[in-house]
Amino acid sequence: MSLLTEWEVNRQNEIDTGGRCRQCEALIVFPKGAPSLCPACKDMLSPDPVDHPRRIRCPRCRALMDPHADPEDLADLFLEGVHEVVCQSCEHEFDVTTTVSYTFGSPEVLDPDPDEIDRDETR
Ligand SMILES: [Zn+2]
Ligand SMILES: [Zn+2]
Repeated sequence: MSLLTEWEVNRQNEIDTGGRCRQCEALIVFPKGAPSLCPACKDMLSPDPVDHPRRIRCPRCRALMDPHADPEDLADLFLEGVHEVVCQSCEHEFDVTTTVSYTFGSPEVLDPDPDEIDRDETR
C-alpha cells in the first residue's frame, strides 16, 4: 500500500467516524462517531452571510466551491479584498470578501552566548 493510499484510507475513516468534516474535511475536535459537519459548514446551512476557511457558498443555489480545487479561476480569492466569483453551478455572479490572517515564524532559540556565561560566573 503506498503512503498516499494509506493516508486516503485514514482520511476516509476519519470522515466516516466524524473526526473530519464530511463536506470540507476540516478536523473536528469532538468526533460523534458518525459522518458530520464542522461548525463552519453548519454555519453554511443558515441563510445568513457566512465566513468559511475553505469553502464559498453561492447565494443563489447554495452550491459550495473550494478555492483550492480551482487554482486558476479562483486564484484571486487568496488576496485580501472583495472578489467577483461566478457560481460554477448556476453562473450567478456574487462578491466574496477575503480576509487574510498572518502568523509570524520566529527562528529557533540559540544556545547561550559563551561570553555571557563567563560574565555571569565571575559576578
Ligand atoms: Zn466543514
Ligand atoms: Zn449558484
